[in-house]
Amino acid sequence: MENIKTTMSDPVHLTLPSPDPEPVRGCAGCVELANVRDRARAGGDFTTVSDCNVFLRRHPQGHS
Ligand SMILES: [Zn+2]
Repeated sequence: MENIKTTMSDPVHLTLPSPDPEPVRGCAGCVELANVRDRARAGGDFTTVSDCNVFLRRHPQGHS
């Protein structure tokens, strides 16, 4: 009689806050997004902050 154990899978419920992406030097889109992000954070608008971070991470594919 065999008792086959399934392999343990890593827990996926953790959603760690990722560090803010840095604006790419020389990219006007990144600079603008970073400015908007700073202003949004100062105003407590964290939805806009995370939106800007999403766009900043998309730099390699372009911002528009
Ligand atoms: Zn950029």
